[in-house]
Amino acid sequence: MTASDEALALHREAPAIDFHADTLMWSRWVGYDVHKHHEPPLPLNALGGHVDVPRMREGGMGAQFFGLVSLPFMGRTRGLARAVHEQIDALDAALLRDPAGLQLVKTADELDACNKAGAMGALLGIEGAHALEGDLDTLDAFAKRGVRYLGLLHFSANEAGCPAYGTGRRDGEGLTPWGRKLVERCESLGVIVDLAHINKRGFLDACEMATKPPVVSHTGVLGAFEHWRNIDDEQLKAVANKGGVIGVIFCPRFLGGDGLAPVVKHLKHILDVVGEDAPALGSDWDGFIVPTRPLADPRGLPDLTDALLQAGVAPRVVAKILRGNAMRVLRES
Ligand SMILES: [Zn+2]
Repeated sequence: MTASDEALALHREAPAIDFHADTLMWSRWVGYDVHKHHEPPLPLNALGGHVDVPRMREGGMGAQFFGLVSLPFMGRTRGLARAVHEQIDALDAALLRDPAGLQLVKTADELDACNKAGAMGALLGIEGAHALEGDLDTLDAFAKRGVRYLGLLHFSANEAGCPAYGTGRRDGEGLTPWGRKLVERCESLGVIVDLAHINKRGFLDACEMATKPPVVSHTGVLGAFEHWRNIDDEQLKAVANKGGVIGVIFCPRFLGGDGLAPVVKHLKHILDVVGEDAPALGSDWDGFIVPTRPLADPRGLPDLTDALLQAGVAPRVVAKILRGNAMRVLRES
C-alpha cells in the first residue's frame, strides 16, 4: 500500500510514538543492530527483527519505547536487574555508534528537540517489577538511566501482584502492600505505571491509588474482541479517569483478525468508550508476536493512519493517537 499525502503530512506534524517494542532484548541476546535496515524473511519475522531506525524513519515515527525484558524462568530471582541494565548498555552502545540517528530521551521536550534535529527518539520502559528483585531502590537506578515506565507484571506473579495470565495467576488478589509502595515510588520518580499484563484486581487497585496518569503499553480491548489478553471497559474507564493512555497491540491473535481493520476497531472502541485522550499505539514489535501483516514493521504506520482517516477519525484525533496522547502522559508524569 502507498500512504496518502494527507497521512504522510500528519506523520510529519505528529511523528508517531509507539509504547512497546522488545527490540533491545534482541540487541542483548544476538547483537541486533538498530541502525541497520532489516528485511527478516518468514518465518524468522515471527520472532523479531521488526524495529530499526531506518524503518522507523520510513514509517513516520518519532520515537519508540523500548521494553526492557527479564525472564524469571523457573523462579529465578537473581540477575534480573542485571538483564535490564545490559539491555540499556546495548542501547548506549548503539547510541554511540550513531548519535545523530538515535537519541535516548526522557522527556517530551527532549523528544521534540531530538525529532527537530532529525533523530529518532529512544524511550525506555521495563516489563515486569520482578526486575527490581524485591528492592524499591533498584527503580531509582533504572530511572537514573532514563527508564520512563515500569510494567508492574509480566507473565509470572511477583512482589507487586499477580499476572492476568501465567505462573502464579490468582484472579482474586490485587496489589500487594509492596506493590502499593512501588506505585508511589514510581510516581515520585516520574516513572509511569504500566498496567499491561497485570490481573484485573491489581489493575483497578493501581488506577484507584494513582495520582498521575497510568498507561497500558500494549493491549487489546475486550469490547472489540474477546480474549484473555484484552482489557474490559471498566479497565478502560479506570485508566482514562486518571488521564491515562492505552496502547493498542498489533498482534492479530489478540485483535481477532489480520489486517488494519482490527487495529482500527480496537482504537475506535477506546475512542467510543473513553474518548480521544486515551488511545495510542502499543505494537509489541520484537516481542515474540507475529504482527498483523500490514504492520509487520514501522513502515506500515502511515497506512494505519489512512485507515483511521477512512474510518472517520478526525486528523486532529489521529495525531493524538500517533503522538499527542503519549506526549501528554510524558509531560504529566
Ligand atoms: Zn508484553
